[in-house]
Amino acid sequence: MSASMLLDIHALRQTFPRADGGELLVLDGIELQLGQGQIVGLLGRTGSGKSTLLRSIAGLMPPSAGTVTYLGQPVVAPAPGIAMVFQGFALFPWLTVLENVQLGLEALGLPDAEIRKRALAAIDLIGLDGYESAYPRELSGGMRQRVGFARALVVHPNILLMDEPFSALDVLTAETLRTDFLELWGDGKLPIKGVILVTHNIEEAVLMCDRILLFSSNPGRIIREIGVDLKRPRNRLDPRFRDLVEEIYVAMTARRPVPPKAGISAGAVATSIDTILPRISANLLSGFIETLAAEPYSGKADLPVIAELLHMEADDLFPVSDALQMLHLVEIEGGDIKITDTGKQFVEAGTDDRKKIFQRQLLSYVPLAAHIRRVLQERANHVAPKSRFFDELEDHMSTEDAEVTLRSVTAWGRYAEAFAYDDDSQTFSLENPT
Ligand code: ADP
Ligand code: MG
Repeated sequence: MSASMLLDIHALRQTFPRADGGELLVLDGIELQLGQGQIVGLLGRTGSGKSTLLRSIAGLMPPSAGTVTYLGQPVVAPAPGIAMVFQGFALFPWLTVLENVQLGLEALGLPDAEIRKRALAAIDLIGLDGYESAYPRELSGGMRQRVGFARALVVHPNILLMDEPFSALDVLTAETLRTDFLELWGDGKLPIKGVILVTHNIEEAVLMCDRILLFSSNPGRIIREIGVDLKRPRNRLDPRFRDLVEEIYVAMTARRPVPPKAGISAGAVATSIDTILPRISANLLSGFIETLAAEPYSGKADLPVIAELLHMEADDLFPVSDALQMLHLVEIEGGDIKITDTGKQFVEAGTDDRKKIFQRQLLSYVPLAAHIRRVLQERANHVAPKSRFFDELEDHMSTEDAEVTLRSVTAWGRYAEAFAYDDDSQTFSLENPT
């Protein structure tokens, strides 16, 4: 490992125990190097294992396999040279700003005067001067996150880990914090040598990072590495900036290869009974496809462009485009989203015909929906408890994902009138078995 290498991750794998005694593979084959002076971005959808990876780097969770090496030493416990900024600020409400920041230093066993001096310097650096004795509840979200930054920086870490640090803030506040951070970084004023930034925001990654690692989901793997060699400060309107954003959209919406077990024709979207379904209402799906069908898109749009116009972040847009693609109402290729013939029929149809089209697509292309319907048809009373399907799903995915998947298929099935669901008795039923 060269002297300028801060962090070296090799063949990292992370699994969690599953309800059925098996294991859920969350991260696989992760290779990551962080050199001095670099900001490396980890970009992927929700659930791709980004936070899990940060926890491994921070020494909060030993990897199931593989190694995390920090300055030539394996990380087995929290290392003093690695600090973290969280999305949710994680401040102590009963402590003042100064006390919250000092907390970061207490483990280091420095003299009181030194602790105070360093905390005040960090507070000053991050733009919180004058707020030393305020309590978190008196601060705006942006100011609270500045405290989060000050608390991480006060230890003068070599590596700063940031887990979606701007995503709980409103758009303008987030941009101000990004700009301030980049200015301090560019001027060499931050007491850190390298940064790992987790984000699901494509533009944020291109704005801030020297290198971006794109993650796939289920399991999380690095599918692509993209270098950003635009000079700073970067301009979002620069055509080269836009090209990179587009390139990442294309990579993140590229079709996953169909697993052989699914037995669907080549080119089809990979969906099987254990595919995690995005949590999207039938209303949002129809609203989106109507927008796509109407002017100015007339059935075809550039994903980043439509995202921008609908004020959606990639992470909000992907589940919608995934679901529509899964139902064969749209096609996605090269970062473009295009309505299919069935999609057009759906938009032009009245309410009842829409439901019929939706039902046909749902039962043809979402194996879980077809499975639920088949089970209901086979039962004499046409009723089955939710738990039956939940247990099946839990063998293949986390409890959380099983919940979301079942909730989505329920909402879609209800809209399509493919089956009914009763919340009180937690049972599925068939109203008109045919
Ligand atoms: P991201 O930060 O990219 O959204 P996470 O690292 O939070 O993703 O989660 C990745 C996957 O690991 C998810 O499917 C999540 O449900 C699962 N997961 C995370 N932590 C645990 C845990 N402690 N036990 C079981 N599953 C977990
Ligand atoms: Mg996360």
